[in-house]
Amino acid sequence: MTGLQPDLHPDSNPDFLDTNSDTNSDSDSNSNDSHSDPDPDIGLLEFPMDSPMSHAILEPGEADDLSGNNPDHGLDVHMDLPGAVADLQEKLLNGYQCPPHPTGDISKPKVLSTSQSLSLKHYIAWRKSNGTVLAYKLHAHVLQDACNDTTILSLHAVCRLASHLTGLEPVQVDICPGSCIAYTGSFEELDSCPFVWSGSRSPCGLPRYKQKQSPNAQATPHAQMLYIPIIPVIRAMFSNEETSRLLCYRDHCLQQALHLVATAPRAHAYSDFANAYVHLQQYENGLFQDSRDIAFALSTDGAQLTMKKQSDTWILILIILNLPPEIHYKSSNTIVAFATPGPRGPGDIESFLYPLFKEMAMASAGIWVWDAVDSSYFTNRSCICMALGDMLGSAKLSGMAGHSAVFGDHFSMVRGAHASLKPGAKSQYYPISPPQSQTYNPEHPVAYDLDNLPMHNSQAYWETIRMLQDARSKAQAQAITCRTGISCMSLCAASPAYDHPTFFPLDPFHLFYENCMAFLWDLWVTMSSPSEIIHLSVEKACTFGNIISDAMSTLPPSFCGTIWDPYLKQQSQYKVFEWMALLHWYIIPIGIELEFNPTVLENFSFFAEAVEIAMTIQPMGERDLLELMGLIKAFLTGFEQLYVGDDPEKVSCH
Ligand SMILES: [Zn+2]
Repeated sequence: MTGLQPDLHPDSNPDFLDTNSDTNSDSDSNSNDSHSDPDPDIGLLEFPMDSPMSHAILEPGEADDLSGNNPDHGLDVHMDLPGAVADLQEKLLNGYQCPPHPTGDISKPKVLSTSQSLSLKHYIAWRKSNGTVLAYKLHAHVLQDACNDTTILSLHAVCRLASHLTGLEPVQVDICPGSCIAYTGSFEELDSCPFVWSGSRSPCGLPRYKQKQSPNAQATPHAQMLYIPIIPVIRAMFSNEETSRLLCYRDHCLQQALHLVATAPRAHAYSDFANAYVHLQQYENGLFQDSRDIAFALSTDGAQLTMKKQSDTWILILIILNLPPEIHYKSSNTIVAFATPGPRGPGDIESFLYPLFKEMAMASAGIWVWDAVDSSYFTNRSCICMALGDMLGSAKLSGMAGHSAVFGDHFSMVRGAHASLKPGAKSQYYPISPPQSQTYNPEHPVAYDLDNLPMHNSQAYWETIRMLQDARSKAQAQAITCRTGISCMSLCAASPAYDHPTFFPLDPFHLFYENCMAFLWDLWVTMSSPSEIIHLSVEKACTFGNIISDAMSTLPPSFCGTIWDPYLKQQSQYKVFEWMALLHWYIIPIGIELEFNPTVLENFSFFAEAVEIAMTIQPMGERDLLELMGLIKAFLTGFEQLYVGDDPEKVSCH
């Protein structure tokens, strides 16, 4: 229950709750300051995601020429979806239709006795303060004494009451003890695990149930995971008046954006999912018509619970994008749908997600919910709008070919390049222009134009899914995957908000810090030779590390952790926040002081600035985005010259 309480920062001012404020007046005045020449044709909103404009890098003067009005790519494009999508949705719904009236199982909030009410308040305070069981008992006695002997329920009884009131009961789902599958969907009726791990020729085969002690005994599964149902959580959020009001932030922001697009498109600035191009498109396509419909982001990642990696659990959380951005990532406002118990990461992740998608299919079709704000029932329609994860997690969820595929990039159709002439060498990098391509990569275009990259788009995606479903053999399907970078239809396609490739945005924390930053450091220190311009000598890397260690004393005590010497500690679990500190604060000033190569440092500064801009919470207009793209282009072009140069073999390790 504590997870349902809004966690507002004391300074935050959810002004959207003030229904009297004139929300349009600010926007109108904005449109008159820096951009005094209103031009309704301007605005990235009018550019379809898959048009060249959405990834073009323009000179400042060119921005005024962007009309981008391609009649074939308007906001109201409806895709002709393959029948497989409807089949999947039907299977998940399993006959469910939103009833015409609220049914008996959705009751209005109940009237609580003083004992129940006090016990629940006590329970919430206890949960929020991470109290012990003894603390619950002792404080309950004090409370009972202070309240004229009003009975304070036992911990067990209050948990039962909370569960009964919210309808929130965890569900036990049978899984393979080897973490391969959950017995859901097409696996639901099986008695042993059919999953084949890559590199293995035979299925896992572990039995689902333990051997029965007697013929009439109930079958006991070897392993289960707990799944927290989402529909009771949605209902509970609306039965709390404060949370219900906070959930309207998304619509407030969306309506502002729609108003700006209609009246002063130049003034539109992107700051959150709620005013993003993708969300406006979803609205235009008929989703999110009620201000209370919820947009969820699904996020999954592995977590090693022990340092030695003996247990690899996967945690799945849902982020409520309806809440204001200052609070929607806070742990108290995210919903943990499940955590797989390990010992390894899930084999077939979709089988673990299946119970969630079954419920979300119902939630998208419509569920009756009681709203405490206007004390009435309404039909809520909520969708998952994006799935976040690192490269591995994202590839498992998206049904795309992995990052070592020929077309392994999730957004562009830039061809991967081989770094070796050895047969079977994999493509690991997606260069603009790989050197000696006639010999190494004859199929690769001589150079890609960063202003006009070939991109994935919805239409091509659905055509590919159709082709894959019509493929007559495994080899034929593999050939299609090789050409398109798409290997199968994702379970996520069941969401009415599904779009390709925007449903799987990059996870900046993994990408910028754990991947790019760690890789750049390795390239400088261990993966280059002293003769290369990018190389950082042992002496300088060592001095740099010492300075970082010394700088620890200047960190504010509230910072999330100490920044260790990267030269000594990089190989032993250097953390995301440490790479963040290096990228944002330390490398450039200390690098200048220690006389790192100025060209390499300048190139790195483009990267650092681009990340800085991309990670800011400030709203960004069209020109800010063009500037950002300019920086990324400068970084990439310089990177390829400095790190690959004319050596095609460096394409793999650099
Ligand atoms: Zn198994």
